[in-house]
Amino acid sequence: MTASPYLGEVVAFATMHGKERLAREAFHDVLGARVLAPAGLDTDAFGSFSGEVPRTRSPLDTARAKARLALARSNASAALASEGSFRSDFGWLTRHQELLVFVDDVRRIELVEVFTGPVDLPPARDVTTGERAVAFAETMGFPRQGVMVHADRAQGTEVAKDLRTPTALAEHVDRLAREGASLTITPDYRAHRSPARSDVIRRLCVRMAERLATPCPACAAPGYGRTDVRRGLPCQGCGEPTELPIADVHGCASCDATHLVPRTPPLAEPRWCDGCNP
Ligand SMILES: [Zn+2]
Ligand SMILES: [Zn+2]
Repeated sequence: MTASPYLGEVVAFATMHGKERLAREAFHDVLGARVLAPAGLDTDAFGSFSGEVPRTRSPLDTARAKARLALARSNASAALASEGSFRSDFGWLTRHQELLVFVDDVRRIELVEVFTGPVDLPPARDVTTGERAVAFAETMGFPRQGVMVHADRAQGTEVAKDLRTPTALAEHVDRLAREGASLTITPDYRAHRSPARSDVIRRLCVRMAERLATPCPACAAPGYGRTDVRRGLPCQGCGEPTELPIADVHGCASCDATHLVPRTPPLAEPRWCDGCNP
């Protein structure tokens, strides 16, 4: 711990809803740093899951902008921000990409850790009664996992995000249905209303803290770690390169140092090979 470059330092997490709590343990245990959330940040101004504020920048640029705002609104010289995207490709499988960005203005480094994976939450569903709304919400773990109710009416779309109990959800849906609204329920992906997303952010914070504790072998800057993958793992059958990764590229956020870390196993099964399994 005495080797930690962030010992005793404060890191600002750009969040309105307590994401700093997801980073605290890792940043304390691994780096000896404190994580705080600057007061009064409006991170929804960068776009929201409910769609009320459209997202105009890429997820990475959004996360960077949030981290910059946290730096501007705090005394910290380093900041964290996360940005999640959720996409339903085939109507039933939702994919989650979460980016965690770390910006250090003193050492002039920026690091990004990424999670990509399927979400164990259902995509949007239309509902017509409170009873059906509650039954659907409970399949995704409501009320621990939150829901958003989108109501389309002649006077426009309205999104309810803070229905915390089955009774409140049922009453809301029944009332709007009586008023002739068409209603759609989606999972609430905001971290403080989604245990699954919170877990992903917490794991990224662990990875980020461990990476910050890893100095570059060439220049000793913090944050040496995986920056890329190299594809072309040879096929077991014919020896031709496949699309599977052959190695991870580890690199420095400050200088040009890199090295390759080979993946195991050293050969790809022929089913991944365009030649053997076209
Ligand atoms: Zn082959
Ligand atoms: Zn370096």
